[in-house]
Amino acid sequence: MRYPSLKNRSTARSLAAGIAALCSAGLAVAADAPTVPSVTALLCGHLIDTAAGKVLGETTIVIEGGRVKEVHSGLQAPSGATAIDLKTQTCMPGLIDSHTHITGQTSRTEYSDRYHWNLSDYVIRSTIYARRTLLAGFTTVRNLGDTANESAALRNAINAGVVPGPRIFTAGKAIGSTGGHGDPSNGLRQDLMKDFGAVDGIINGPEDAVKAVREHYKLGDDVIKIMPSGGVLDEGASGDNSQMTLEEIRAVVTTAHDYGFAVAAHAHGAEAIKRAVLGGVDSIEHGTYMDAEDMKLMVEHGTYFVPTIIAGDFVARQAKIPGYYPATIARKASEIGPLIQATAGRAYKAHVKIAFGTDAAVYPHGENAHEFELMVGAGMPPMFVIQAATVNAATLLRHDKDLGSVTAGKLADVVAVPGNPIDDISLMKRVSFVMKEGVVYKVNAVPVDTGL
Ligand SMILES: [Zn+2]
Repeated sequence: MRYPSLKNRSTARSLAAGIAALCSAGLAVAADAPTVPSVTALLCGHLIDTAAGKVLGETTIVIEGGRVKEVHSGLQAPSGATAIDLKTQTCMPGLIDSHTHITGQTSRTEYSDRYHWNLSDYVIRSTIYARRTLLAGFTTVRNLGDTANESAALRNAINAGVVPGPRIFTAGKAIGSTGGHGDPSNGLRQDLMKDFGAVDGIINGPEDAVKAVREHYKLGDDVIKIMPSGGVLDEGASGDNSQMTLEEIRAVVTTAHDYGFAVAAHAHGAEAIKRAVLGGVDSIEHGTYMDAEDMKLMVEHGTYFVPTIIAGDFVARQAKIPGYYPATIARKASEIGPLIQATAGRAYKAHVKIAFGTDAAVYPHGENAHEFELMVGAGMPPMFVIQAATVNAATLLRHDKDLGSVTAGKLADVVAVPGNPIDDISLMKRVSFVMKEGVVYKVNAVPVDTGL
């Protein structure tokens, strides 16, 4: 595939210079980047003020050094600035997907590939998934589970300007219990099964839980993911049973919060959700069988819900294709998958805090924005779902000082769609402009050659 340049290639270079200045190793652009720091002005037909929940009229966003310098009404670029014409577009902050697995992706051969592929095979492909995610308008993701902390290597490569991709906050490997959703040998024949321990993320008891969290600190991860309930895409019998005790969850959360980590809990079953909320986790992921008591507790504790409706929708459809999944997984996928959208609608009505997240990898990377349509289909207003993917997700990430709105001082992550997504939410699937930290990756719906 060939990528057209911006009209003037030096414009792309000077835009790229912003990130080069911020990153200690802007390898791809440092050699011939201009010495003068550039100022860019985005001339937007509209801007979504995600903090206020309003669509503003014509607005100019001035960017310098990878951050938003100024936002003012009207279309006027400061003299000397590189102006980008987005008059027919609606601008908004870069989108945040709170639940991805960017180093893998579903396929018919996914379960047999595990016997043939090395970690490096996954890592090579992850660079393409990262690029697709960024070009779909997602400038930041939380990565909630990988195999061997490989998503941290991808995060570091993206931050260093080696490959294009979203800003990644990673959990590394998820923490679960023996035979549970996080146990990689679950479902294998006995001589291939392994007795994993806390260093591998498999815990049995509060002491293991403490050690597992500290291991993530040692590895340089950003967030903690736990598996208090069964899941769909492993070969365990139940997709929703409780697989961690309240004491284990509490031990994870207390330790994680000591180290500044937020805790995300994969949970389908009502009892597992309740334990996770009482244990103090920051978000419930999927939440399929969330009941009224769970929702009440989540409101009281301020726990976020990350519904991942698209994942449920996708697996339920794939389960109908003979042989796509192993039989146990196909059964769980058809039971659990179709229920998430209705749960998300009930949670919205119950005033549970919601952050946008998709479980990307369960469905193909780059299609993340379909979740917006599914959230609106669940009964959420378009402005609410855009806020879920910006201000709310930034708060859940604990990075709302830098992300989540187009505001002077914040990082210059800006995307745009052709038209008003409040009138037609499907426009979120047609992101035509992508800027991350002042660098333009897509303009006029075409990827830009940034030199990476
Ligand atoms: Zn997941």
